[in-house]
Amino acid sequence: MEGTKGMSVFVLDQRKHPLMPCSERRARLLLSRKRAVVHRVWPFTIRLKDRSREASQVQPVALKLDPGSKTTGMALARVEQTQVGEMHHALHLAELSHRGERVHHALQQRAGYRHRRRSAHQRYRVPRFQNRTRPAGWLPPSLRSRIGNMLTWTRRYARFAPVGRIDVEQVKFDLALMDNPELTGVAYQRGEVFGWEIRAYVLAKFHHQCAYCGTHQGALELDHVHPRSRRGSDRVSNLAPACHDCNAKKGNRTAAEFGHPEVEVQAKVPLRDAAAVNATRLALVEALGVFGLPMGTWTGGRTRWNRDRFAVEKAHCLDALCVGELAGIGLPAQRVLHITAQGRGSYQRTNVDASGFPRGYLLRQKRVRGFSTGDLIRAEVPAHLKTRGVHVGRVAVRLSGSFKVGKTDGIHARYCHLMQRGDGYGYVWQ
Ligand SMILES: [Zn+2]
Repeated sequence: MEGTKGMSVFVLDQRKHPLMPCSERRARLLLSRKRAVVHRVWPFTIRLKDRSREASQVQPVALKLDPGSKTTGMALARVEQTQVGEMHHALHLAELSHRGERVHHALQQRAGYRHRRRSAHQRYRVPRFQNRTRPAGWLPPSLRSRIGNMLTWTRRYARFAPVGRIDVEQVKFDLALMDNPELTGVAYQRGEVFGWEIRAYVLAKFHHQCAYCGTHQGALELDHVHPRSRRGSDRVSNLAPACHDCNAKKGNRTAAEFGHPEVEVQAKVPLRDAAAVNATRLALVEALGVFGLPMGTWTGGRTRWNRDRFAVEKAHCLDALCVGELAGIGLPAQRVLHITAQGRGSYQRTNVDASGFPRGYLLRQKRVRGFSTGDLIRAEVPAHLKTRGVHVGRVAVRLSGSFKVGKTDGIHARYCHLMQRGDGYGYVWQ
C-alpha cells in the first residue's frame, strides 16, 4: 500500500463516492489509460469510470485535527488495528492558515470609517449600541471564521476520502486532571501522559518562561517550589518551570529562600484563563457534531507525549497526526498541502486611499463572461499576441474582458478555460 511519495491523490468511484487515496504514480497511470478523469485540481482528485465502491476495498480512515489560532494541522490517516493498539498511517497531510486576523482588521477598519464620517459631520449611519444582546454561544467573527474553515474542510475531506471518524485535540491540557491532585502526584512520578498534561499546564501558567530569571531559551524543567527533599509535594500548586541553571542554583532551597516569594504565590493560583484558552476548541467540537461521525476528543498533553515517543518533528500537520490514543504512526515521505483561507472577495465596493478618500470603484457584478476573480484558469494565447503561450493561475476579471491570469495582465477571456471555480482558498504543495 505505501509508496515513497504517500497517497496524495484522492479517488472517487463512478458515482462520486470516496475510495482510498492513491499515489501520484498510480493516478497518472489510471488517467493515461483513460480509466479515470480529473474530478478536481486542488486538492487533486480523480474519478474512476469503471469502478463502484461496492467492488472496492475501503479501509477505515480517521480525520485528525489540531486546531490552532493561526494554523490548523489536518491529517488523514489509515487506521490499522494491532495487538498493542492502533497504528495510524498518514495518507494526507495539510496545514490550513486562517484569516482571523484579517477579519478582525477589516471590522476595525469599517468601524474607523464610520467613526470618521460621524466626526466629520458627513452622512453616516446612526451608531447602534445597547439595543442588541449577544445570543448564547456568540463568538467573535474572527473565531467564527476559523470554525467555518475547519467545518468546510471536514466536509470536503469526508467527500474525498472514506472518513469514518474524527479525532480532534479539544483542549490544551486536561483541566479535570489538574483538579485532582491525588492523580497528578502518582502520574507525575510515572512520567507518562499525565506528566505532559501537567507540564503544559504549568508552562501556560508561567507564560512559557523560567519562573526565576524569565528566560524563554532552552528546555525548561519542572521545579518543585518547596523542594521534594524537604517533603514538598508533586501537586501542580508546588510546581514552576525553571531553566536548568536556575534549577541547579536553587538546589535545596524553597522559592522564598531563593529570593522569589512571588513564585510561591503564583504557583498556588489556578490558571484563570484556562477555560478561555479552550473556548474556541469547545465550540469547534460542538460544531463538528453536525457530521454525525464518531468523534474522539483529546488533550494537547497527549499529543506532545505521542510526538515525543514517536520522535516526530514539530509541525502543525504532524501534531494532528499525533492526536489521540496511538500505538504507533506510519509516516511515509510525502508533501504537505498548504491551504490558505482567502475569503471570497470584498463586501466593500469602494477602494479608498490612505486618508480614507474614495479611490476607484469595484464592479458590482462578480462574474464577467463566465469567470469570476479567484477562479483557476488555463489560458492558451496564440503566437501572434504579446502575451503568447500557456498561462495557468488565478484570474482577476475586468468588465472589458481583458483579464489578469497569475502575474500576466491583458489576457482576453476568449483564450481562458476554467480549471476550477474559486473556492475562497489558496493552495501550495510543500
Ligand atoms: Zn532561569
